Amino acid sequence: MEDKHMLMIPGPTPVPEKVLISLGTHPIGHRSGDFSKIIAEINDNLKWLHQTKNEVLSLNVSGTGAMEAGMINFLSPGDRVLVGVNGKFGDRWAQICEVFGMETERITSDWGTPLDPNEFKTKLEADTNKQIKAVVITHSETSAGVLNDLETINKYVKAHGEALIIVDAVTSLGAYNVPVDDWGLDVVASGSQKGYMIPPGLGFISVSDKAWKAYETSKFPRFYMDLGKYKKANAKNSTPFTPPINLMFGLQTALQMMQREGLENIFARHQRLTQATRAAAIAMGLSLFAPDDAASTAVTAIRTDDAEAIRTTMRQKYDIALAGGQDHLKGKIFRIGHLGFISDRDIIMTIGCLEAALTELGHDFEPKSGTKAAAAALV
Ligand SMILES: *Cc1c(COP(=O)(O)O)cnc(C)c1O
Repeated sequence: MEDKHMLMIPGPTPVPEKVLISLGTHPIGHRSGDFSKIIAEINDNLKWLHQTKNEVLSLNVSGTGAMEAGMINFLSPGDRVLVGVNGKFGDRWAQICEVFGMETERITSDWGTPLDPNEFKTKLEADTNKQIKAVVITHSETSAGVLNDLETINKYVKAHGEALIIVDAVTSLGAYNVPVDDWGLDVVASGSQKGYMIPPGLGFISVSDKAWKAYETSKFPRFYMDLGKYKKANAKNSTPFTPPINLMFGLQTALQMMQREGLENIFARHQRLTQATRAAAIAMGLSLFAPDDAASTAVTAIRTDDAEAIRTTMRQKYDIALAGGQDHLKGKIFRIGHLGFISDRDIIMTIGCLEAALTELGHDFEPKSGTKAAAAALV
């Protein structure tokens, strides 16, 4: 039905009415005093969301752009980097490092299996000459619905002392606790269309003092992606280039909404939605792709050979978009996003429609078992 589209994918995520209205207001000059005030408020609230005193910079890029900026501003050609790869995004960060001529070492796990922190420990402890300049981790690996143990891996990075920890927090920030200062995370990248509840187009990056020190000696050429320019402008509540002004209006509104909800409540909500989705899948006889103790709170991957038929029925009959599997998992899994502006009602509705779709496709399971399990997990 026209205008009934419901996004249950891990980005872009649904946008609240208040944010849509902000997006639809007339732009103002980005060098005006009024816009400076908005930037000042956004910067404060971004620090709040990241639980940091570090600078959080906003760039007109998607999450990938933020990650690329997070690597080429603090590293140099030939630098040795360890990249955790257990899905599409980890693999992408390794590819970027390779394209830029870094000595890239992949620490891999199967998609659906979390990275093993001990493998990082071994490599880091063996590196007594301190040649490893960065460890790159995808906190929530969206392609497989896996949450990697960033906290433990980061402890080994801290024990190493030299390497920077560079984090893809695109689907963990705003969905799971990412205490940037408590953990001492050097570079943390995220994107607007995920936990921020606004459309795609903005990338964010928080930068520690240690990373700024590395910036001084980093040798990659860059201009638009030169974070030094953003830092300098940020100090004056400005931006080096024209920002997507309307997206910034939306961001201002979304961050205010997040503040009203509170960080603890936001994390608890995502945890609850995850539990409900997982309980429902099991109750309906489906199998979960990621283990319980490493489940992303942004997206649940469900394994079934019927994945594409399920997605088609959900989209065509119920106007609900679900994500499919990527690369070798195409047709083998489907993914339910529960990130950002998602409520208990959205989950019950999605599971209810999923029950109907599964029934139509001839799956054998106890009627209403999914919604029952989801509702029970949501009390
Ligand atoms: C969405 C996503 C990104 C960013 O992708 P873009 O399309 O560049 O915004 C990066 N990492 C993860 C884990 C993601 O889910």
